Amino acid sequence: MDDGRWQEIQACVREADFVLVGLGEEMAYDWGALTEDARYREIEAETGDAQEYIWIVPFLQKMILRQEREDKWTRAYRNLKRLIAGKDYFIVSLCMDDRIYDAGFEAERIVTPCGGFRMMQCDGNCSHELTDMPQESYEAVLRYYRKEIPLSALREPVCGKCGRKLRFNRLGVERYAEEGYLDRWHAYTKWLQRTVNRKVCVLELGVGMEYPTVIRFPFEKIVLYNQKARLYRVHSALWQIGGEISDRGCSVREDPADFLEQMSAAL
Ligand SMILES: [Zn+2]
Repeated sequence: MDDGRWQEIQACVREADFVLVGLGEEMAYDWGALTEDARYREIEAETGDAQEYIWIVPFLQKMILRQEREDKWTRAYRNLKRLIAGKDYFIVSLCMDDRIYDAGFEAERIVTPCGGFRMMQCDGNCSHELTDMPQESYEAVLRYYRKEIPLSALREPVCGKCGRKLRFNRLGVERYAEEGYLDRWHAYTKWLQRTVNRKVCVLELGVGMEYPTVIRFPFEKIVLYNQKARLYRVHSALWQIGGEISDRGCSVREDPADFLEQMSAAL
């Protein structure tokens, strides 16, 4: 690793009026932690392919997310926070693991358009309203995980209005409730308006081509139209910056979480 990269990025952040951060697929939490868990594997074996128990998995994921831990993502987010501390920043993240919300950033400066585990919604989005996770459903899954109650005692939570499944407000549900992020998205577009013709340091970390119209393409456009903007693109496979913005961009061919982890040592 070329340590000079981090010095350059730090200098760019320091001199910038605004810091725009985009987090993509490569920053997503690796659920391998779940499959390494012996009890989880037991549960997988017990539920098998039974469709009626699939709903348990996101609750178990939520349980894993609530556990205290120190891993590569903890360190990566901690370093990112140090890097942009005190700056006027905004973070757009495609990750659906909520790790960004536990990292100590200001929640009003974050938008996660793909959702996460913070709220639930009706699978059919019948009311366009989000609801809190029913605590009793979560507790029941936890008790089943601890082997205090049998699988047969679990009941999938349902929408209070239409009776369809209640699901976490994440992409992948039948009709995704965009109500979960639109407020923040409006705040983000307002924030972007303020960056016009100002010095903007754009950090794009692990954003691939899964949803290029959310971060990747718009970020390129920002740098294209704003001569005072500079783009740092970190990605293990899609690191290239092409065309007209190549002179205002710098690419790093690396896994973004690994790269962030190295920050402390480099500075
Ligand atoms: Zn409903």
